[in-house]
Amino acid sequence: MKISDIREIPGIDKNVLEHLQKKNHEKVIYCSDESSGLQAIIAIHNTNLGPALGGTRMWNYNTISEAAEDVLRLSRGMTYKAAITGLSLGGGKAVIIGKSKHKTDEMMRAFGKFVESQKGKYITAEDVGMTTRDMEIVYKETNHVVGKPIELGGSGDPSVVTAYGVLMGMKGSAQYKWKNNKLRGKKILVQGVGNVGRNLIELLIEEDANIYINDVNEEKMKNMVQKYNVKIIKDDIYSSDIDIYAPCALGGTLNEFTIPKLKCAIVAGAANNQLAKEYIHDDMLSDYNILYAPDFLINAGGLINVYSELKGFSNNEVMKKTENIFDTTIEILQKAQNDNISTQKAALKIAKSKVFSKEYRK
Ligand code: NAD
Repeated sequence: MKISDIREIPGIDKNVLEHLQKKNHEKVIYCSDESSGLQAIIAIHNTNLGPALGGTRMWNYNTISEAAEDVLRLSRGMTYKAAITGLSLGGGKAVIIGKSKHKTDEMMRAFGKFVESQKGKYITAEDVGMTTRDMEIVYKETNHVVGKPIELGGSGDPSVVTAYGVLMGMKGSAQYKWKNNKLRGKKILVQGVGNVGRNLIELLIEEDANIYINDVNEEKMKNMVQKYNVKIIKDDIYSSDIDIYAPCALGGTLNEFTIPKLKCAIVAGAANNQLAKEYIHDDMLSDYNILYAPDFLINAGGLINVYSELKGFSNNEVMKKTENIFDTTIEILQKAQNDNISTQKAALKIAKSKVFSKEYRK
């Protein structure tokens, strides 16, 4: 197994090198293991508040540079997510280059050794393209894994807690916008009825909201309509007449094409990186008088859930911490208004002040 600094990889793109210079990552290392075929990168963005925690994504990247760009952006996001949530964690992330169907146990064990080489400075978990079973194999080589199955002392499926946090962020936004946190009768579009979307819908039903759904998977939509009182929106979803838009599928859905169409008053959902361009589309939403609940703040329930494995929190404590997202959302919306900046910038400002202030350091 060969481990080297990403800067030493021949042919690495200049965008990656520029990003490294600007965003101050502590360590970005590339691993190649000939016998198992593993090619992976671990990015440790910042450990001021604690060890860098973030999931491992397996994706068929075209180049090492493409994988590096993704892991740099994702690991930075984890630093600010942990900070704004008040967790003693830093931000990190790992990517494995390749199709997840080509994954082997040998490769997962080699990845476990790669994680172990960081001696706990980086803690991994499951992300896109990885399963709980993969994490079990990684766990054979390193203890620095969270999100393990309940049978192995883990915290299980994080999406239930993520959905609860999104609900808290949505209610906090409603309180701020409408001076009432009740969602009864509000028309809410949940885009993506996967793990988080489905759990969010169950919570919204208890709130007596009017729920609309959209998913690329027709079968899933049909099942949802059979099971719950929800309506499907298929065409031109961004122009639909709704009060709240909850992106729970992919990132980048808030952009120059969709924002002008939106009729909703609030955007609050689970998807990571909802703003296609962080520092442009946040202001654009403000210009259209749409309240945006920053994704990295309100989708932190899953992170709180895996954090409980390190701290030995009970399920009650996890839910209590996740409930705080309601107050934090209001605090950030208020700060955005006071400082006359977007809600995204207000959230980042608070997160950065924690990461770089001595008061919060480990
Ligand atoms: P998932 O894969 O279970 O569900 C995603 C759903 O979105 C699927 O049903 C898929 O068919 C649908 N989808 C994909 N592309 C779509 C499109 N263009 N339009 C409409 N629907 C589309 O994923 P998940 O675990 O529910 O996560 C949802 C989002 O929330 C992701 O962006 C994820 O990164 C983020 N997130 C999840 C968690 C968690 O605990 N699972 C935590 C934080 C953030």
